[in-house]
Amino acid sequence: MPVQNQRSKWSLELGSIANIPIRIHTTFFLLLAWLVLMTDSPSPMLEGLFVVSVFVCVLLHELGHAIMGKWWGVQTKNITLYPFGGIAAITSQPSPKGELFIAISGPLVNILIAALLYPWVNLPSAESISTTPISFVARLFLTNIGLALFNLLPALPMDGGRVLRALLSLLKVRRPTFFAARISQGICILLGLAGLYLDQPMLFVIAFIIFFGAMQEHVRAETSSLAIAFTVSDVFVPKERLETMSHGTTISKGLRTALTSLQPLYPVMNGDELMGVVFREDLLEHAATRADDYIGEILTRSLPRLEASLSLADAISKLEEENSNVAVVTRGGQYVGLLVADRLADFLLLQELRQNLPKDDDIEWSTPQ
Ligand SMILES: [Zn+2]
Repeated sequence: MPVQNQRSKWSLELGSIANIPIRIHTTFFLLLAWLVLMTDSPSPMLEGLFVVSVFVCVLLHELGHAIMGKWWGVQTKNITLYPFGGIAAITSQPSPKGELFIAISGPLVNILIAALLYPWVNLPSAESISTTPISFVARLFLTNIGLALFNLLPALPMDGGRVLRALLSLLKVRRPTFFAARISQGICILLGLAGLYLDQPMLFVIAFIIFFGAMQEHVRAETSSLAIAFTVSDVFVPKERLETMSHGTTISKGLRTALTSLQPLYPVMNGDELMGVVFREDLLEHAATRADDYIGEILTRSLPRLEASLSLADAISKLEEENSNVAVVTRGGQYVGLLVADRLADFLLLQELRQNLPKDDDIEWSTPQ
């Protein structure tokens, strides 16, 4: 399944295919060891080989997404393989048509593999199914069919859920993620009930995991569509509204200013030139020992610079990339104000609340008789 996601410390880089780093999560090796040790099969090596083969199939599935993504101009940052599947981390949200093709190409790879294996598959007949051991190739064949069907479940964040969302979007349904997430949750409830009824705890657990995945996906999509719709100029604090400090001010004097204003940070100026910012906490921290030093010595100089016309989505990823919660906002390269991450988050939350309020045409007016 393709998602936007950050790197995990618990994964091992194997190398790269088509410039995409391929990682394996360490839990995979635990699963491999566990399966080989616990198996009652006469040849544990064959069991190990089977698990590795399944992983190659999962990797090919993810590469299917990645290659189709490239076709639609969506870069894949990396592919991580987990014991229960893979994740291709993509860097941007494709168009609905792109999402449809990218989502479907993963399961299609598994169907293709199954088709290639089919000539060598000798499934035991119905009468002898419990006595004849199933062959390696037949198992791999069935696993690929299973992977394709499982991933095509029309529930977010599975591939099938993405196909569903893309179709809703192409059918011009307003808020496609909202409806896709609702449908997903309905399917999860049915799946969970089936798990209880059929006494299949795994099915119940899977339904549970997807249920929360669908909710997360819904929240993320609402936020990211807002983050694309607004720009830095909608949220930043213009320099005229900021109290500033001169780089030649002493720390103790700066602290006195900071204690009487509500600003959490101050632009530090050298005449008209912005040198950096000083945080209230830094003033507090150094006030006792370095009261007579200049503010210029404790300021944070290297801040990300963002153009006011940049979308909030790009601004957020830039802030995350540089691990900063403040950015200098520029217009045509000239300093015009500051962007503060907390304020940005509040702004997005407010917009989301506003979006979820009923619109005038949704309200039913009751007329008194
Ligand atoms: Zn997939």
